[in-house]
Amino acid sequence: MRSAMPAEAPLLGAIEAGGTKFVLGAGTGADAIVDQVQIPTRDPETTLAETIAFFRRHPGLAAIGIGSFGPLERNRDAAKWGHILATPKPGWSDCDLAGAIARALGVPIGFDTDVNAAALAEARLGAARDAKVSVYVTIGTGIGGGVMADGRIVGGSGHPELGHMRPRRGPDDADFAGHCPFHGDCLEGLASGPAIIARWGQSLSHLAPDHEAHGLIAGYLAEMCNSLRAALAPDAIVLGGGVMGTPGLFERIVAQAAARDGGYFALSAERVIRRPALAPISGLAGAFLLAADLL
Ligand code: ZN
Repeated sequence: MRSAMPAEAPLLGAIEAGGTKFVLGAGTGADAIVDQVQIPTRDPETTLAETIAFFRRHPGLAAIGIGSFGPLERNRDAAKWGHILATPKPGWSDCDLAGAIARALGVPIGFDTDVNAAALAEARLGAARDAKVSVYVTIGTGIGGGVMADGRIVGGSGHPELGHMRPRRGPDDADFAGHCPFHGDCLEGLASGPAIIARWGQSLSHLAPDHEAHGLIAGYLAEMCNSLRAALAPDAIVLGGGVMGTPGLFERIVAQAAARDGGYFALSAERVIRRPALAPISGLAGAFLLAADLL
């Protein structure tokens, strides 16, 4: 008896390239990973050498997808396609991430941001499968988001920078200037993990459940959700990332978004705002899809 699985399913590579770690996978898809490792993100030379060594152990790869930290050039027509752009991360500015891997391994490369990859995966396979328009936002070391519309990743010459929108702040919430070096009190400057630690000295999950931080952070993220609802009419907003692991935060965001929306939007906050279905591998799953889409 032959297996029902198609024997010709191509072997794919996937890279979730993060600021602190690279997750590498090989398999025919996120549901059929045959090998997966995690390596620390060091300088580009060391990190890329380890990455290439991993994939050399899997001959016959048909394509590799990369979902990477940014900023990066995702436009295939651009001279710098596949490069990391100006980043404070030492050594990584102008790194030709996609090109280095393509040259070493001789396979086609799909390349996009880590959050666009996660948005793609949640839209095709996860929490936003029923959505025509969906947004994935990660709230962690930074805040970043990807937008999907009718099966496609939305972006012009660049990629969305949802984390740098400014939420409305309450009148009694003016004593923290914010942690973003570019904007001060943008979302990332107020509600990312480092911003929370800069303001209160501990991560949100370590602050007592009755600490004011919980309500304030939920409020900023509720403002973000309502701005996205107003701008894009999404069917789903999927909230992932380390900060979202804080007990009760998801429920507080939904409640505050509903309380602040004035009943105006067609779809309720309760229906639109969702937890990821593919965490913690939303990004890696998306990288597999970026690879598969090349074939
Ligand atoms: Zn900012």
